[in-house]
Amino acid sequence: MKKKFFNVYILIIIIVFSIILSSLSYVKYLIKENGDNIIFLENFIINNEKNDFSEQKVDIEKSKYFKCETTISKEMFNKIDGDALLIVPRIRGTWHKIYFNDNLIGMIGDDKYERVNLWNNVYKFAISEELIEDENSLVFYTYSEYKIGHGNIPIFISDTCIGTKIFYLLKTIYSNLYIFFLSILLAMSAMEIMLFIITKINNKIMFLFPVSVFIISIYLVDYIVIPHPFLSDLLFKKILLSLLYISPIVMSIALSKLYKSKIILNIAKIMGVCILIMIVLSKNRIELSFYSTRINLLLLITVMSWIYVSCRNYRLYKNPQDYMICFSGILLLGPSIHDTFSLLFFDGGLMRLGVYGIVFYSVAILLITLINYIEFQNLIYSEKKIIELEKDRLKKALIFDELTGLYNHTHFYEAFSNRIKVKNESVDIIFIDIDKFRPINDLVGYEIGDKIIKGIADEILSIIDDKEAVFRFGGEEFAIIYNNANGELTSSALAEKIRRKIIVDEELQNLSGYLPLTLSIGIAKYPKDSVDPKLVVSKAEKAMIFAKSNGRNRVYVYDPDIELKLESDSQINYKNQVLIKSIYNLASAVDLKDTYTGYHSVEVSRFAMIIADELKLSEKQKYAIRLGGLIHDIGKLSISDTIIRKEGKLTEEEYSIIKEHPKTGSDIVCKIVDNNDIVSCVRSHHERWDGTGYPDGLKGEEIPIVARIICVADAYHAMISKRSYREEMDKEIALLELENNRGTQFDSKIADAFIGIMKGQ
Ligand code: GH3
Ligand code: MG
Ligand code: MG
Repeated sequence: MKKKFFNVYILIIIIVFSIILSSLSYVKYLIKENGDNIIFLENFIINNEKNDFSEQKVDIEKSKYFKCETTISKEMFNKIDGDALLIVPRIRGTWHKIYFNDNLIGMIGDDKYERVNLWNNVYKFAISEELIEDENSLVFYTYSEYKIGHGNIPIFISDTCIGTKIFYLLKTIYSNLYIFFLSILLAMSAMEIMLFIITKINNKIMFLFPVSVFIISIYLVDYIVIPHPFLSDLLFKKILLSLLYISPIVMSIALSKLYKSKIILNIAKIMGVCILIMIVLSKNRIELSFYSTRINLLLLITVMSWIYVSCRNYRLYKNPQDYMICFSGILLLGPSIHDTFSLLFFDGGLMRLGVYGIVFYSVAILLITLINYIEFQNLIYSEKKIIELEKDRLKKALIFDELTGLYNHTHFYEAFSNRIKVKNESVDIIFIDIDKFRPINDLVGYEIGDKIIKGIADEILSIIDDKEAVFRFGGEEFAIIYNNANGELTSSALAEKIRRKIIVDEELQNLSGYLPLTLSIGIAKYPKDSVDPKLVVSKAEKAMIFAKSNGRNRVYVYDPDIELKLESDSQINYKNQVLIKSIYNLASAVDLKDTYTGYHSVEVSRFAMIIADELKLSEKQKYAIRLGGLIHDIGKLSISDTIIRKEGKLTEEEYSIIKEHPKTGSDIVCKIVDNNDIVSCVRSHHERWDGTGYPDGLKGEEIPIVARIICVADAYHAMISKRSYREEMDKEIALLELENNRGTQFDSKIADAFIGIMKGQ
């Protein structure tokens, strides 16, 4: 957008500039082409002194009132048909009266009010044919300091047609195009100054560039038509001339800072003093022009010092900006040379280096500033963007958990109080902790541990799907802010769903190695359990801890009794933990012995737990199943490795040895634990529903339910594991096998429940 803005300006400047140049050339061309029909008036006589140049300058001190006179012979008028037209370009002063053969042919300005000035205007005066005599006198009576004529375009008399054409062309250029051009320069530099101020860019050097252009642009007013400036001619000219020199001073200050050059600054200081002298001492235009020619020499030195320093810098650093500064310096050399030596070198020349040099210089400087500004802005913009992004990242890191993409603990309380205070909701806090995660980490490593955490987060989100409500509360703890206002699941049903989803998730279970991956979940309600968010959370956490102390892998809803139970449980718990630990060790001993079964015991325990959950067994039974599942094959420890690991079919004798293991196992177990259900799991897991099993040949419901469950889990895992004598079975086929043997080998109710769960995954 900025770039487009900038291009439009350049385009307009180029167009207007070409129009001015071509129009001026066209005027020159017209004058030259019609030269034979034009009377050029170069020999005005002022105060009876002959002046031989078209631009007349008169000293006001000598007289307040001037008479400038010239004579034109009749033969000259022979060049012109009919009425004639006197064209006077760039006429200045307070007033003029123009007489032709003592007839007043025109009057401009106001002879009563001295302060009304004419400034650089173009005028035409008609001379009718009847007034022409043999010898004709043309007299300009004029007041105040004045100037008539133009360096390039002289005062002349022509026929009405060509005179009118040239008059309007000149008027258009001076009155309109120059003003338009000047306005663009002023507007552009003003815009750049404003940009620096508004955007608060602290770049003083670049700020001074457009300031300098703005000042020198005002000087260009000297070249355009202003009918009535409000100041006296001299004062007005003094102001404009000082602007011509103040502008390079401003530029010198900027460049001396940019290039750290004292010489440039010192020259600028000298120039400043000279301007003051010029303003104070010059009492008329002639004196003003005397001082200004001397200051122009200084200007020349100044500009040359810019060129030198920027050139030197360019050679050192190849910075395009230095190249541009050097170039614009050369452009400004033009007007200073022109103004100093104008009469000597440029009188009558087509190019007005004075104006165009300044204009080119201004455009070049404005371009440097604008390009610099845009670059600076881009830099700031990209820096800002980086900072914004960084801020955003930090903010996100502060409230987001990178691993799971969930909100973290920091944001939890904010979101919680937002829900209860702003939305005035009653909510449940579901607090989830992964069971025995430390050993899992120790076994599979932290990297896989992280994958498990992420996997659990994804599973939770697949159920809740409101990302705003799920939090990673701690390392391996999650919290959910839940409200079932829309008639969805209750918080305990939801928690239960999550817990189950994790135990049956094969992928996650495989990640945790042979250790089961389960969740303990506690729930507390706001405002029922407490109106203090922190207390609600702590109560949910207590419910979770209670779930842990009751064997883990379960959901508890907070009630005040929990806290009492937790205290009394803590001692029993300790014993229990020691027991569980030793049972785990035994389980790995069994699994190690029968290497083909891998983590068989752990898996049987897990599958059995799934069934126990589905059948809504009591907590006591579940506890027994969990441990019983782990040590159901403990009797195999007494069987020799050659039989256990034998490849191929077992002999009758070997098979009968194998069949001993439930009994041997139960004998061992009953000595370790005082829990009939656990012992039953070990003893009766090879009994069959139809009574053809071993060791006791129990039938139907005679077989303890815990053992029937282990039986199904054991058979299923055996089928899907690779054995020494066969490949692993497809899961679908294993389930079909369970179905085919329901009512004979397996309890139909249990087989159906298990098949249902496994198929429903
Ligand atoms: P409990 O059943 O009592 O919860 O046992 P636990 O081992 O899970 O114990 P606790 O809840 O105190 O869990 C702490 C362990 O969780 C410590 C560390 O091994 C694991 N953990 C915590 N944060 C992270 C994590 O960001 N990545 C991984 N991989 N493990 C973590
Ligand atoms: Mg924890
Ligand atoms: Mg844990």
